[in-house]
Amino acid sequence: MATPHDKMFFGDSIIDSREATLGVATSAVLYGLSVYTVFPVHVSGTSRTAFRLRDHYQRLLESCKIIGIDSFAPQWTFDRFVSVVREVVAANDPQSEVYVRATVHVDESIPGTRVRGLSTTMSIFLYDAVPIVPQDGMRLKTSVWRRIPDNAIPSRAKVNGAYVNSVLAKQDAIDSGFDDCIFLDINGHVCELSAANIFLVRGGVLITPDVTSDILDGINRRTILTLAREEGIEVHERTVDLTELYIADEVFVSGTSAGVAPVHQIDGRTIGDSPALGPVASTLRKRHQAALTSVESHDWVTVL
Ligand code: PMP
Repeated sequence: MATPHDKMFFGDSIIDSREATLGVATSAVLYGLSVYTVFPVHVSGTSRTAFRLRDHYQRLLESCKIIGIDSFAPQWTFDRFVSVVREVVAANDPQSEVYVRATVHVDESIPGTRVRGLSTTMSIFLYDAVPIVPQDGMRLKTSVWRRIPDNAIPSRAKVNGAYVNSVLAKQDAIDSGFDDCIFLDINGHVCELSAANIFLVRGGVLITPDVTSDILDGINRRTILTLAREEGIEVHERTVDLTELYIADEVFVSGTSAGVAPVHQIDGRTIGDSPALGPVASTLRKRHQAALTSVESHDWVTVL
């Protein structure tokens, strides 16, 4: 299990990670009222780069806006966010790739079930970059748990409390001997995994649930779609039936902690010819890996 590296940003300064605590009576603890994002920082020699930091910051802002957390935006400009990320990375001096988790916690105690006007505390910490799903052909199970719809707890807001839904589905998959779950929405259409987006390839066409399918608008999902279009691959973002996955030529997932990784089996049905990435996914993984550290293209990489 990954643990936070020694130093973290908490409140308004960098402190020893073991000393960062939130009260048990805060809304963050009582109601899961925190929003967060996780992005990778690559380390090569003395160079450290973060991937799509502006998009992660923007998604954090949007999560706050959806949930009604109004104290984040006035306190956290993008420039402050970058400078604190830079500081906390430098304080830990990682020697290999890390994931950085930035969380806005609603830290007022027992205010009841409301949010507007409440104060927040930011935590930003690093942990070792260990993928959360196998990279060599994972086995998925359609979950008995449905994805929370946008009009209950919106998936496009990355709010901690909503992850109970992911925990239920992932644990059910593990208990049944699978690597992860496939969430369906309340109408039975495909959404995503517990913490990754899903794609299928059929007849050379790349298909993925659109952003109104109760999914997280994943930053690596957006990256894959951009790179696929650049490669001249036909891309469809639309409603996806579960049985389309069963008969796909390739199925793969994307996410910060999932990488671009192949799916080998779904509900006992084998996908494609081998557990390895198929040709389309393989091209996209190569492009994705290059993009993670390339300062030249797309303006996606921030040198820290
Ligand atoms: N869906 C869910 C539910 C997630 O938690 C994640 C991981 N953040 C993703 C998709 C992938 O998003 P991203 O590409 O931004 O990491």
